[in-house]
Amino acid sequence: TRHLLARTEADAALGAFLHVDAEGALAAAAAADAARAAGQAGPLTGVPIAHKDIFVTADMPTTAGSKILAGYRSPFDATVVARLKAAGTVNLGKLNCDEFAMGSANTNSAYGPVLNPWDRGRVPGGSSGGSAAAVAARLVPAATGTDTGGSIRQPASFTGITGIKPTYGVCSRYGMIAYASSLDQAGPMARSAEDCALLLSAMSGFDERDATSAQRPAQDFHAQMQQAREGASASQPLAGLRIGLPREFFPAALAADVDGAVRAALSELQRLGATLVDISLPRTELAIPVYYIIAPAEASSNLSRFDGVKFGHRAAQHGDLLDMYKKSRAEGFGAEVKRRIMTGTYVLSHGYYDAYYLQAQKLRRMIADDFQAAFAQCDVIAGPVAPTVAWPLQGHSADPLADYLADIFTLPASLAGLPGMSVPAGFSPQGLPVGLQLIGNYFQEGTLLHAAHALQ
Ligand code: GLN
Repeated sequence: TRHLLARTEADAALGAFLHVDAEGALAAAAAADAARAAGQAGPLTGVPIAHKDIFVTADMPTTAGSKILAGYRSPFDATVVARLKAAGTVNLGKLNCDEFAMGSANTNSAYGPVLNPWDRGRVPGGSSGGSAAAVAARLVPAATGTDTGGSIRQPASFTGITGIKPTYGVCSRYGMIAYASSLDQAGPMARSAEDCALLLSAMSGFDERDATSAQRPAQDFHAQMQQAREGASASQPLAGLRIGLPREFFPAALAADVDGAVRAALSELQRLGATLVDISLPRTELAIPVYYIIAPAEASSNLSRFDGVKFGHRAAQHGDLLDMYKKSRAEGFGAEVKRRIMTGTYVLSHGYYDAYYLQAQKLRRMIADDFQAAFAQCDVIAGPVAPTVAWPLQGHSADPLADYLADIFTLPASLAGLPGMSVPAGFSPQGLPVGLQLIGNYFQEGTLLHAAHALQ
């Protein structure tokens, strides 16, 4: 803990941390030492981690990357935070992220960008950019992230780490500041599938405080991985595994460096015993308009609570109550958040609801059905996480649509609520990390982690 606190302090320029709690971390580390001495250590006892600043914490501030929550402190811990604390982890602090998790590059944070440790002139991906950069720069061995449309998988891909978004409902959303409630999921970001399995086991499980929490017994993902490995041949641990390659995930426009690294990883999976099968997810392209209707619609509703009364920022100068709402929100929210609130309000409004929101919901169902048809032919789906490697911090298109389009390969699994992960596939010729995406059927996290581990 002391070593990582020193590294974190020395590399403040990375922009990964929004808050460091050295005192709290050292106290937790001492408690972990005592637990170990008393013979009460679990696999995560004393392991330093940090949380995306979208999880509320009672002992330190929470901003969600937004000015509107500057100075806000929650009276309670998010379930994920509380569970990882109970498992003995040491929380070093809170990690930078796009404002309310809206973004793909961490450039929408009100507290400045995060740099990609592999090339500090590039973005780390988003919205869990601080989590990805902190793990990749070895400031922490693991961190929490959240993924609404790719925010664990895409930054993991851009920074060469491993991240998993479990099936919707596996991790509690209680205390995770809501962006799009029907899509938001928490998950671990770490150096390996094995580390992710350990964290996910501690983070997940039914929580009566989240109405969409999956009512299933707690799972030991690490034990599942070990069992799968024990039952498998040493040279061909993936024998019998059918990996589906959706042709829509390999378009002509896919960057050659991404295509090359992903195909190399796929050959390696084949060498490990897996068979590759061609499949189709015909509505892949529609995932972009569908997601960018549903997510802003839910965001417009979720973010109505930030009105200058209940939480955070209130405009200093204002007239009547309505004026106070307007000014507080105008001052507190960033441009992208405002864009989404307006889009969301529009698609939900009278006269447009049927044309946009309802249509999007119908297509969302069809996208989920396409996956079920695909899973009749394969056990796992594989492809790129993102169409490109991490892009430059400066000079990237200012058009928000460019970022939306870059989410094409992560959005389908989010809309269907399926588990997905990013595992390092290799590097581009210029030395930038490329992730391989693995998507499983509902609650098949164990299969994904087993395949990812074999590749590592
Ligand atoms: N880039 C997507 C968005 O901006 C996904 C973000 C996320 O998963 N939180 O909505």
